[in-house]
Amino acid sequence: MAEERFSIMAVFAHPNDESFGPASTLAKYATLGVKTYLVCATRGEKGAVRREEGSLSMEEVARMREEELKCAAEAINLTDFRVLGYPDGGLQEMDFQELTGGIVAAVRELKPQVLITFGPEGITGHTDHIVVGRATEEAFRAAGDPRRFSGGIFGDREPHSPSKLYFYVLPQRMVEAFNLNLRGTEDSLVTTEIDVSGFEDVRARAIRCHWTQLEPAHKKHDRETEGLKEKYLSINYFQLAAGRINTSDKIERDLFSGVDLE
Ligand SMILES: [Zn+2]
Repeated sequence: MAEERFSIMAVFAHPNDESFGPASTLAKYATLGVKTYLVCATRGEKGAVRREEGSLSMEEVARMREEELKCAAEAINLTDFRVLGYPDGGLQEMDFQELTGGIVAAVRELKPQVLITFGPEGITGHTDHIVVGRATEEAFRAAGDPRRFSGGIFGDREPHSPSKLYFYVLPQRMVEAFNLNLRGTEDSLVTTEIDVSGFEDVRARAIRCHWTQLEPAHKKHDRETEGLKEKYLSINYFQLAAGRINTSDKIERDLFSGVDLE
């Protein structure tokens, strides 16, 4: 079970992905003494902002959203977070090795055992989500290999291999049951269910931090979560994508099951 020497790193594309995503899981593990990190690939400068903000430059939007991310990080009780500053809406166009390298650098610095990112569905289907998931998969393989990403900014960072890589997912049955306008993952691929009952409010608080993003998404979100509350917001779902593969049919209940400390 979880303890202080364990750490999790979530890698997502935009400020707010963590809050709409597995915020409750991160908050729960933080409470258990696990170090929880977030790597956000972009500053979210292309995000639409609420009308009352008027027109803002991308730099102004980026600064606001970084503040919002800081607020969410505090609500979730993250140990720390990094913003890589890659182009919002442009992860597919940028150099894939550069994107992967940014994640590798964070993995080697913070040395998590568990990585969490988007799966190929990307939850909303946003291209940035799908690409950051692919880059995190690549970083999972590369971070422990001293022949890759060596020299330059990588010079003083020891290679580090995380033990497990998870995709944060929504089971298809949930997407259908609640008629969500989101992309589900085939139920049989879901390997892991984390009971986050008691942490739903933390997630709600974290979401509210992303103030510029809450109209009209907020109303839509409220509608979507109304029926979800009791049944589904108390569980977060994951797909073990690499690492110690669960060979039994049993659903995992802990992201650290099977992880040995060195
Ligand atoms: Zn996003």
